[in-house]
Amino acid sequence: MTIEPRGRVIGLDISGTFGGGMRGALVDGTGSLLARKDAITPRINPEDLIESLVTMAIRLAEQAQREGAPASAIGVAVPGLINEASGMVHRSPNLPLQNVPLGQILRDRLKMPAFLIHDASAGAIAEYALGAGRPVSDMMLVVIGSGVGSAVVSDGRILRGAHGTAGEIGHIVIDPAGILCGCGGRGCVETFASVTSIARRYTMAAKEAILAEEVVAKAAAGNPAAARVWNDALGALATVIATAVALIDCALVVLSGTMKLPSEALAPLGALLAKRINLVQLPRVEVGALGETAGILGAAAIAFERAAMGDATHEWRRSSR
Ligand SMILES: [Zn+2]
Repeated sequence: MTIEPRGRVIGLDISGTFGGGMRGALVDGTGSLLARKDAITPRINPEDLIESLVTMAIRLAEQAQREGAPASAIGVAVPGLINEASGMVHRSPNLPLQNVPLGQILRDRLKMPAFLIHDASAGAIAEYALGAGRPVSDMMLVVIGSGVGSAVVSDGRILRGAHGTAGEIGHIVIDPAGILCGCGGRGCVETFASVTSIARRYTMAAKEAILAEEVVAKAAAGNPAAARVWNDALGALATVIATAVALIDCALVVLSGTMKLPSEALAPLGALLAKRINLVQLPRVEVGALGETAGILGAAAIAFERAAMGDATHEWRRSSR
């Protein structure tokens, strides 16, 4: 089914993965963002967060109405453990959402179909449809933010698994005797390669508190402590990505997240992967092309699809832009 070009949905991203707050937009049938809105994400109580989300959605819906092309559905990208089918948020790191029926709340408040999608899946769908993943049918998105997440596109479809948690690579154990992780385990990928962990490891080594981005810049400038921290992060990522590649045979690994990483900083990752991947085909590694808009676009794509307005992912890939 083709999407009516003037068909519109609301795409919202509350992940904060791509730098800070809550983001939303009206998205049309061609995948264009028609109106962008940003807001600070309330992180203390669920009522404030939901209110802020609803307010942003209502403003976007009103704008669409004024322009004579009303929004027909809403999609929301949410981090954490969610049930996409029921619209339930079970647990979300860094957000005050625990067992909240967010999909139902949005349906009731906005009087339109509302759908949730895991934030990494939203990013992967968007990069696959409109960004770095356009040339391939099998790719993996790795998101480096306050945690480390990923989502897999296999033969054009998001791999969800039996419980919807496929691709949760952040808690694969690299060092069983390593640092305690937020999940209760030790030495998970996240304890090496999340933005928080990179900053914390450097602070522990050099007794200086700086941002992860600055650690990467210092590593590039030859600072030994920073280089060690960044190399350990890349090593953990390479190990887990190589393992994933053996399982899923993806042609492309797209990296995205909160850190602005110069491509030189990521160059060693290709070499580390080449050392770990010998038998199967080595994937290309690229930085995401859509940046902070990926979550919004993926949320919109799922809204189009689930509201039976058309297969946005397929159509956006076919379009010439
Ligand atoms: Zn963990």
